[in-house]
Order: sequence, then C-alpha cells, then structure tokens
Amino acid sequence: MTTEGRHHDLADLLDRCLRNPILGLCEGVSITWVTSTKGRVHRIILGSYDRTKGRIEINDRLDRWYVPEYVLLDVIRHELLHRLVGWTSRDDQHGPVFMRAERSFGSHGRAEAWIERNQHRLFRG
Ligand SMILES: [Zn+2]
Repeated sequence: MTTEGRHHDLADLLDRCLRNPILGLCEGVSITWVTSTKGRVHRIILGSYDRTKGRIEINDRLDRWYVPEYVLLDVIRHELLHRLVGWTSRDDQHGPVFMRAERSFGSHGRAEAWIERNQHRLFRG
C-alpha cells in the first residue's frame, strides 16, 4: 500500500476527512493509490471503496501537481460515505441519503465542477 504520492499524501488527506464528526465514524479505514490499468477513457473511476478490505483506492492519475486538495478531499469523502451509507441502498449506490450527505460537504459542487472541467487533462495518455 502506498499513501505518499509524488504530489499528494493520502494518509494526511484521509486524516483531515476523518476530523468531520460523521466521517470520523470511518476510523480504521485504510487508503492507497492504485494505478488504473483499464483503458476505458469514457468511464472515469477516480476512487473506489473495497468493502472486503475496508480500503479506499484512489486513482493515481489524481496524484498530479495541478489537482487541488479540495478535489482529493471530495473524492475521499465520497468513498468514506460508501463505507458509511452504502449498505442502506444496495441497489442504488448513490441513493438519496448518500446524495444528501455528499452535498452537505461545502466543497462538493466546486470539486465536481473542477473534475468536469479537467477530465480530459486527467485521462488522456
Ligand atoms: Zn460512488
């Protein structure tokens, strides 16, 4: 497992997310960078949560100097929410409870907008 990337340290970012009183319930979760080997550019996976391993996996394409911290924090919070509320809506991973919780994080809209604007840059090559 690697948490320290070239530009971003996932252990530090995860610690900061866990300071949120709700997300703090996820204490004990682990995190790692993963290299995405899937070449399907139209389906962008920035992060995922492995429930069996209790581990968040973050696409190492996000380990770039120009990726703002608030984007990484948002992706990590998203995966933490899967650990917390995913089971309440097995058929719909991003059900209403999930969406509402995610929107409650101040920088979510800003992070989404950044990803939208920069995905071509993140996922080419
Ligand atoms: Zn999700």
